[in-house]
Amino acid sequence: MSPLETEIRSRIEQDGPLSIAEYMALCLLHPEYGYYTTGTPVGGRASASREGGDFITAPEISQMFGEMIGVWCMEVWQALGEPSPFALVELGPGRGTLMADLLRVAKALPGFAAAADIYLVEVSGTLAEQQSLTLEKSGASLKWLRDTGQLPDMPAIIIGNEFLDALPFRQWVRLEGQWLERAIGIRDDKLAFVAKANVLPQEDEPEGEHEDGTIFETAPAREAQIAQIAAHLKQHNGAALFIDYGHLKSGTGDTFQAVRDHAYADPLAAPGQSDLTSHVDFETLLAIAKTAGCAVPPATAQGKFLVELGLLERAGTLGSGKNDHIQNQLRSAVERLAGPDAMGNLFKVAAFGAPASLGNRWPGFRSADDDMTDALSQDQPSG
Ligand code: SAH
Repeated sequence: MSPLETEIRSRIEQDGPLSIAEYMALCLLHPEYGYYTTGTPVGGRASASREGGDFITAPEISQMFGEMIGVWCMEVWQALGEPSPFALVELGPGRGTLMADLLRVAKALPGFAAAADIYLVEVSGTLAEQQSLTLEKSGASLKWLRDTGQLPDMPAIIIGNEFLDALPFRQWVRLEGQWLERAIGIRDDKLAFVAKANVLPQEDEPEGEHEDGTIFETAPAREAQIAQIAAHLKQHNGAALFIDYGHLKSGTGDTFQAVRDHAYADPLAAPGQSDLTSHVDFETLLAIAKTAGCAVPPATAQGKFLVELGLLERAGTLGSGKNDHIQNQLRSAVERLAGPDAMGNLFKVAAFGAPASLGNRWPGFRSADDDMTDALSQDQPSG
């Protein structure tokens, strides 16, 4: 048994079952044994053949992803009236690949890089070192923060790819007319899901009737993160962009997921050695941003967003005059990032920001009456 599992079991024996949020925080961020604090979770671009790391993210698939996010940031910066200085903030930058690609493409807009104070929000010392190595070449001056509470009082453009899904969440299970917290205890000498005598507050309950055994998820840590950023943007101006595996409509269902060595794993087996996530409930998070006074364009899907920003044109430029091998690589990268059967529909993109500045000019987002947005709004969690 790993030292982390021993520690988790002794906590359960002393204090009773752990909520999924407590379990997740220990598994991902334990100072000595946590998955993010000690491991090399994200595979690098050179290892896109599935070697190394446990999972591949969009920026690791192709430079074009970070470049399109760079295009978004530049267009937003212009729409905001080119504030200088402003904070360019990435939450959970992984290996630093997205920011490196973003900064390279941003050289095209004089003034943007000069105005940007770059902040990387990261809890893992190992990954912060990796980010520093990746970004060395950019020559940019970088600051690391552990959370967004320390952001400077200035306009901000904030981005996070696969960040929200890594923040802890909780589950509730419907049993005899109540929503009880689904927690982690010990059964037959193994970690196992149990129901805990902790009832979901009525105001958080999902609408409608639900059968016994239905699972419902809440994510107070994600909600607090969005509320804090929305308040910052409302006060200091700016915009935020989040891309994640998730759904545009709140609903019930179990989306707790563990990934290890590029395959799904049992979230309770080998704590601290796999990536733990759940799908992001964008409807709830965007409602929070709206309540805080931010403007919120209808969320969209990654494929549509990237194509709107010029993914296909960029692939054309990169491939022009190149050999078949490179052209095929580019085609396959476009397919993986934007194809409806790959990441294109599963990953969602949501933005919000200070209302006066952007009006309807949200780059990458089309208007609310868009057919596709309507179709996607039916998208609910699936367990
Ligand atoms: N954005 C990167 C990495 C995604 S993995 C990419 O697309 O490749 C999640 C990232 O969020 C890691 O860098 C992880 O260390 C960081 N992270 C996880 N929980 C965090 C928290 N509570 N605060 C700050 N960063 C966190």
